[in-house]
Amino acid sequence: MLRYLYAMKRNCDTCGDEYEYRRKTSRFCSDKCRMAFGRENPKPESQVSKVQMQVLYNAVLDLVSNVNFAPSSPAAYDTPKHKKYIADEPKQWVEPKKSKLEIYYSRLSDVDNIDELNNLANTVWNDKSIDWPDRLKFKQDGLVKANKLGY
Ligand SMILES: [Zn+2]
Repeated sequence: MLRYLYAMKRNCDTCGDEYEYRRKTSRFCSDKCRMAFGRENPKPESQVSKVQMQVLYNAVLDLVSNVNFAPSSPAAYDTPKHKKYIADEPKQWVEPKKSKLEIYYSRLSDVDNIDELNNLANTVWNDKSIDWPDRLKFKQDGLVKANKLGY
């Protein structure tokens, strides 16, 4: 076996020196280098959830809106050289809009008579902005719904 005939060598990720390694996943020449790397490259914190992000975002907006944007001496900024700074109302977080297809599907689950169902099915079938496989799937789901409604 070749890998036992030749010493397996690679370079340490911390000091760059060449060393012989025993495990394939090895990255460092010594414990000292492994620990030094760990100190300089702390693991990233866990992912922030959508709600946490929203809370953070709104907190930042609150902070920003509390800052006084007016220049200390307004007249000093009134020359042509300095345009007055006018701060816009900060935008609040809004829930991302549902896709068209998602809206169609929520309408499909609300439908309770065959005429409405037919109308909806035709609307989606003729909506070329929806990909064809999705329209076909919607048609099939519409038939399932028609069955459920007793048609
Ligand atoms: Zn090293």
